[in-house]
Amino acid sequence: MTAFAFRDGEFLALSDLSVGIGTHALHYGTNVFEGLRGYWEPGHEELYVFRARDHFKRLHLSARFYGMPLPWSTDELCALTRELLARSEVRHNVYVRPILFISSEGIGLWRPGLETSFVMFHTPMGKYIAADALRCCISSWRRPHGTTAPTRAKVGGVYASLALARREAEETGFDEAITLTVDGRVAEGSAENVFLVIDGRLVTPSPGADILPGITRASVIEIAARELGMSTTERDVNPSELAFADEVFFTGTAAEVTPVVEIDRRPVGDGTPGPVTQRLAAVFQEVVHGAREDYASWLLPVYGAGAAPAEGRGPGPAP
Ligand code: PMP
Repeated sequence: MTAFAFRDGEFLALSDLSVGIGTHALHYGTNVFEGLRGYWEPGHEELYVFRARDHFKRLHLSARFYGMPLPWSTDELCALTRELLARSEVRHNVYVRPILFISSEGIGLWRPGLETSFVMFHTPMGKYIAADALRCCISSWRRPHGTTAPTRAKVGGVYASLALARREAEETGFDEAITLTVDGRVAEGSAENVFLVIDGRLVTPSPGADILPGITRASVIEIAARELGMSTTERDVNPSELAFADEVFFTGTAAEVTPVVEIDRRPVGDGTPGPVTQRLAAVFQEVVHGAREDYASWLLPVYGAGAAPAEGRGPGPAP
């Protein structure tokens, strides 16, 4: 079966796709991108892409922020995603990576007339982090500040720093890093948002902490309110609060809802995944696999008749 990719208006075999060594984005990180998950549900014979519309809205935001033209609307990108996955006959859990990048070749950070290219491809994806319950460190690499890079956009260059945080964690025997802001507040994981459970309430760093406001983060805030009657406070989080929280967990497209059970070798709570995290993770899996009719508007079915969910329908849109 051929795995297809989409590039600048045409579908082609992924194996036929290449970029030149002088490509601007390769040298300078000049790209904006997204990551979406598709969940194969054998019972429904369906592949559900989770919150595609919100991911493409964020891609448009990132592109605008970085001044790159993205000539497909959010609806068109949703339709292209369905076509891409259907053409490739994907019947497994999948990760979709759209990327808009400066494709001109040549040395030099900027010159007028630099060209961009848009590519979307997919790859199978199971668990992103091998462990079920994570042991984390506080990274010595701080989350880039909003004045150094547009941290609310998903810009490739920022990930050069986040990759160092992830590498440091793995090389020092941890599963994942938690990054702090330059002024020492809790920001997020290397590619996940972080939540704390404190006295029956959810707490998560606010967008002012230079985080990428995640689509999974917004989904979990909504699910917690609707299913568990738990409200979420978005506020500054002091690193010492992590040690005293009852539970800590990550959210992210790749990480889904993953418990953090140890931080800097100190157990979180009793050192095992807590009940709130487990409940949210379970409901999240039901939602993404199409088992919850009331969240159907969050899903883009690839093979069924459903089009991209209409604006503003169903549970609240992601930020
Ligand atoms: N923070 C960063 C830096 C990320 O790369 C991601 C993954 N996109 C997230 C948070 C989580 O965002 P989302 O839930 O939209 O995947």
